[in-house]
Amino acid sequence: MYKIAVLPGDGIGVEIVPQAVKSLQAVAARCGHQFEYTEALVGGVAYDSFGHPLPAETLALCKRSDAVLLGAIGGPKWDQLPVELRPEIGALLPLRKELALFANLRPCILFPGLLQASTLKEEVISGVDILVIRELTGGLYFGEKKREKTPDGGQQATDILTYSTYEIERIVRFAYQAARQRRRRLCSVDKANVLESSRLWREVVSDLALEYPDVETTHMYVDNCSMQLIRYPRQFDVIVTENMFGDILTDEASMLTGSIGMLPSASIGGQVGLYEPSHGSAPDIAGQNKANPLATILSAAMMLRHSFGLNQEAQLVETAVRSVLEDGYRTPDLVQASVGDAGIKPVDTITMGDLVAERIQTVD
Ligand code: NAD
Repeated sequence: MYKIAVLPGDGIGVEIVPQAVKSLQAVAARCGHQFEYTEALVGGVAYDSFGHPLPAETLALCKRSDAVLLGAIGGPKWDQLPVELRPEIGALLPLRKELALFANLRPCILFPGLLQASTLKEEVISGVDILVIRELTGGLYFGEKKREKTPDGGQQATDILTYSTYEIERIVRFAYQAARQRRRRLCSVDKANVLESSRLWREVVSDLALEYPDVETTHMYVDNCSMQLIRYPRQFDVIVTENMFGDILTDEASMLTGSIGMLPSASIGGQVGLYEPSHGSAPDIAGQNKANPLATILSAAMMLRHSFGLNQEAQLVETAVRSVLEDGYRTPDLVQASVGDAGIKPVDTITMGDLVAERIQTVD
């Protein structure tokens, strides 16, 4: 029996999370597992009901669960709240900190069925399989923030970017271990030509590289990395980087997979892992049964693998997704990108969820 806290959140979160639960139920039925789901509010909807985007009951539920499945939070309705009550700052960041989730894994894999779905050329994206490991509880997002008035009547805003040796070592060691399970190439991304925190980052990586001689270590500036991801993405195996760089680079990398709706994530490091798609609450398409649920379904597969050690079951979900895509089923984000792709079958969010759940029961 595995206890899963289910936090759909805002916007498309309430549409995509039930699709991932369907997939987990299909796994349970096929493999004889029991998953117990407890739903709670987080984000803007939690603020509306409880006056805080991360109510104490929600946090307590997460802490006593085996894993957390999250949709997405935030939206224009809550953008004007005081900064500490905004869903992203008031819920997402404290949740990551409270659960000690220092490592965010974002596998960026191109499913063969989506070779023509990306806006990028097939010969560039074919065979892409990158794991981005983003530090998740330090850096600019967690540093002190302040606003001051200036003598000219304007304002000055400050966000402090801090990293300690300990924080860098912890995530980089984690990345080396991951690289050892893959193609043994680690690219550390920083901005050491400008930022002091990046210079410390690079020193720590260079020291640790001596302990992992079986892994090829390279360093790359973040601006170059954003260009190389589009120019020649197959050069990358594992990328390790700090919080904000990882946030931005993975949105870019998602286009190698066809859509941001394809990019799952796992946040781990503490007792309880948190699994969520890499995208946000997509207010522009919320409530229309249009969102791509595959990133969330693939995040549930990561939960099976990383929190429950159910590797075969995780593969079952991934194989089902692959099979549905190979049969041509596409949510609108992928249809839009698939101009000229003959044989595609447009489907909505719920149908895509049903197809994957059915396929989990039947794939080999
Ligand atoms: P977003 O990721 O929500 O949307 C960016 C674009 O991608 C939109 O055009 C959207 O329609 C599309 N998109 C995203 N997910 C999709 C999916 N599954 N299927 C199809 N299309 C999809 O980013 P944004 O618009 O910058 O932010 C919207 C809100 O989400 C903001 O309030 C932001 O703060 C919040 N946000 C939350 C998280 C999170 O919960 N982890 C992450 C990022 C942004």
